Amino acid sequence: MAINRRDFLKYSAGAGLMLSAGASPARAASKSALPPEAVGILYDSTLCIGCKACMVNCKKANSEPGGALFHKETAGQIPFEYPEGKPIYDAPDSLSSKTLCIIKAHRKTDEPQAKELEYDFVKLHCLHCLEPACVAVCPVAALQKQKDTGIVTYNKNRCFGCRYCQVACPFNIPTYEWEKASPSVVKCQLCNHLYAQGRYSACCEFCPTGASIFGKVTDLQEEAKRRLALKPGDTYAYPVKRVDGTERTEKVVAEYVNHIYGLEEAGGTQYLFLAGVNFDKLGFNPRITNQVYPDFTWDYVSHVPALIGTLLVAGTVTRLVTQKMDKKKQEAGKGESET
Ligand code: SF4
Ligand code: SF4
Ligand code: SF4
Repeated sequence: MAINRRDFLKYSAGAGLMLSAGASPARAASKSALPPEAVGILYDSTLCIGCKACMVNCKKANSEPGGALFHKETAGQIPFEYPEGKPIYDAPDSLSSKTLCIIKAHRKTDEPQAKELEYDFVKLHCLHCLEPACVAVCPVAALQKQKDTGIVTYNKNRCFGCRYCQVACPFNIPTYEWEKASPSVVKCQLCNHLYAQGRYSACCEFCPTGASIFGKVTDLQEEAKRRLALKPGDTYAYPVKRVDGTERTEKVVAEYVNHIYGLEEAGGTQYLFLAGVNFDKLGFNPRITNQVYPDFTWDYVSHVPALIGTLLVAGTVTRLVTQKMDKKKQEAGKGESET
């Protein structure tokens, strides 16, 4: 079997983890049921106009004090309101430590002479997998799947920076704060910090078209199935913001691809997608199967030479030592500047 760079890294990360944890590669395959209060998002690409209101409000919601991803430097600010001398326009083209949600545009045609520049959009962020590979490989349980809501959360105080989660995630979601002296992993946590205020995912709260809607996963699944049964050209009152809300917008039904992405992929996810074109045209990796990814990873791991794992464990230890030395240096520098 041919192994590409990403697969190689997957093998390596898993092997290192096994050696460090003393785990056995023979792990029973089992698919989790949906958590009882599972919440998620349904994104309908046929309704998305690419306005990026979701991206802007994701940044706003996740950089405020008390947020799940509180950044001291941007506390209370919207990223495009940086003080004078700082960047005033933010146009990211991929997920990063400052971008948890991204809208990607894909041209409808590959024909270079095409007069109309028409696009299909897709909104990417953590899919909150039912069996998250990131949770399975994290040696210190910094990533956890919440038992009731199923949200995959991250605790920066537990994380020691091995970044196995980045390697293991089949959707390439977690990013890392490379720019910081004491970096954290960054990813969407479904805006769980807003729930206590009676709010919900900011990307859905501000989506004007109903392309992104929040709700119970069972309701979202039903809504997605209902849409696939609609007749193209008919009109339908699409829910806006929340699947269980009263706000509706009447629209002509587009021709859907008969597939709900996320219902089965990677063992099922709490973020579901509908589209009018095949999902590989929207950048989804066709190699992602319906297999539960933690089991898949462990299956890979059983074929990897122990040496690779040893090297990874050594690398992680080196990183911890380096971090400790950096911290000591910083403290020493602080002491000098105070005297
Ligand atoms: S999409 Fe990636 S980061 Fe999100 S829960 Fe799944 S494995 Fe984890
Ligand atoms: S749920 Fe919240 S953190 Fe996740 S993409 Fe939407 S706005 Fe961003
Ligand atoms: S806010 Fe809604 S319509 Fe606008 S880009 Fe985001 S998902 Fe698409």
